[in-house]
Amino acid sequence: MGLKVAKFGGSSLADAAHFKKVRDILLADEDRRIVVPSAPGKRSSVDIKVTDLLYQCNRLAAAGKNIDEAFDKIVERYNGIAAELGVTIDLEPYLSEVRKQIQLGAGEDYAASRGEYLNGILLADYLGWDFVDPQQGIFFDAQGQLDSEKTQEMLGALFAGHEYAVVPGFYGCDTHGKVKTFSRGGSDITGAIVARAVNADMYENWTDVSGCLMADPRIVRNPEPIRYITYRELRELSYMGASVLHEDAIFPVRIAGIPTNIRNTNQPEEPGTVICYEAEDYDSEHMITGIAGQKNFAIISVEKAMMNAELGFGRRVLQALEEEQVSFEHMPSGIDTMCVVVAESSIDGKKERLVSRIHELCQPDSVEIHSGLALIATVGRGMVRSKGTSARLFNALMKAGVNVRLIDQGSSELNIIVGVDSLDFETATRAIYRAFVVADQPRW
Ligand code: ASP
Repeated sequence: MGLKVAKFGGSSLADAAHFKKVRDILLADEDRRIVVPSAPGKRSSVDIKVTDLLYQCNRLAAAGKNIDEAFDKIVERYNGIAAELGVTIDLEPYLSEVRKQIQLGAGEDYAASRGEYLNGILLADYLGWDFVDPQQGIFFDAQGQLDSEKTQEMLGALFAGHEYAVVPGFYGCDTHGKVKTFSRGGSDITGAIVARAVNADMYENWTDVSGCLMADPRIVRNPEPIRYITYRELRELSYMGASVLHEDAIFPVRIAGIPTNIRNTNQPEEPGTVICYEAEDYDSEHMITGIAGQKNFAIISVEKAMMNAELGFGRRVLQALEEEQVSFEHMPSGIDTMCVVVAESSIDGKKERLVSRIHELCQPDSVEIHSGLALIATVGRGMVRSKGTSARLFNALMKAGVNVRLIDQGSSELNIIVGVDSLDFETATRAIYRAFVVADQPRW
């Protein structure tokens, strides 16, 4: 028998109807033996997530105010779900203890974590599975970072003897034995850590979308879903703004070689997206895997004749940026020009100082800063093996009347990044999508 760790996001556990869907999904595959729940999320666009209600209670408690009115909304959420599911467990003692501790000042992490904790208790009872508390198995170090080694050692052992287990997401234990949470959306990380600790065959991440899409649906109408993507490709797309999973949820499963499957709780028949270490074995319908981009970048262009012969020139340009605490994104360069691409927001109020410092350090012929740049990454593991990818991309941009201001192709050949005027961002994205997906010819 295999082993799958299934994490369900807040929207997948927002109400009793969703709990039922979750149970059906779990029972449909006997390999699904460990489940990681988030706290109940929004039931509609105007609803409030339980985690947000808990943060609110903590703020009230910290200000010395009574939390009862705010906490009652949380009680209502859980009791409502429990009543509709017909579970036998009495949540009252758990809820009262949480209320008491928050009011007494247990702190932000404790408060926020209780959404997952209570949901875990409820789900475990509903399923008839064991409850495993991550406070006993997920550890943070003194700097507040995940202590991977200790966690890996302790967490695996914690599951011994539990054939079917529910382990709440989002929190673990700090060096003083107190609850500590990950950053927001952190149940994704718990799922990945648990999958690694138990050496799962698959990490399933159940949410409200059927996986990753090849482009942003706000720009491209009905983009196709991505069936298989490698962890490296996903990193490139997420870096460019495509958000699917919490960033830190990739590392634990990636190094363990465990694939992640993004699935839709509301459409469990759909296969979703499989993120894997190597995708060579898998087929891909298109030459590219996906397109993602972002606006609001600026290019700092530094020009100096014969700069290539000058030792340390690049370092001095970057030193000026470092002194101003600006981190750079890309560095496409010409023979006598060096360009550094930065986020526009990172140089707000610093432009003049930067320019004069670069002049001081490098004595260039000119330094110019151009704003209003958008970057678009076209990502695909298949690009390296196929001829004419760039030709197709630039042709599409030319036909769409888009002027390319910058080109950056990493030597990994996993992606080609183009910089275009922010005003052309949407047009360019659609043109690339059309060229590779809609009008796609057979694969390489
Ligand atoms: N409930 C937490 C949040 O809202 C963690 C999670 O859902 O992943 O951020």
